[in-house]
Amino acid sequence: MPPSPSERRTTHAPRLDPRFDVPLRGVAVDPATRCAHYDGPRDIIAIRLPCCDVYAPCYQCHQATAPHDLVRWPRARFDTPAVLCGRCGATTTAATYLNTGPSCVHCGAAFNPNCAAHHTRYFEIDG
Ligand SMILES: [Zn+2]
Ligand SMILES: [Zn+2]
Ligand SMILES: [Zn+2]
Repeated sequence: MPPSPSERRTTHAPRLDPRFDVPLRGVAVDPATRCAHYDGPRDIIAIRLPCCDVYAPCYQCHQATAPHDLVRWPRARFDTPAVLCGRCGATTTAATYLNTGPSCVHCGAAFNPNCAAHHTRYFEIDG
């Protein structure tokens, strides 16, 4: 049987979720990268982390599925693709994501604007 479109999967390191074109792990992840922690209509975004080069729907997913602590993106690497849109599957650099606000520059999907409150967890943008 093919997986249902709403199937939830939890993937622990060193395994990766095979449904995505990029390396991705998380807790109860749906096909649009919603997770056990962020499950709203606009929570369709995953972030790559420089410590493992693996995408996660959120920092809690990273902490639950990776065997190490999360490392933030240093400012010098903001030109690296770091954000995955769960709707179209395209990736965006940290610099573009941080400069364009809560939507996908490729397909226009709206992302959760509350994510901005957590940007300092993922990006070196203090002050
Ligand atoms: Zn990591
Ligand atoms: Zn999560
Ligand atoms: Zn998109």
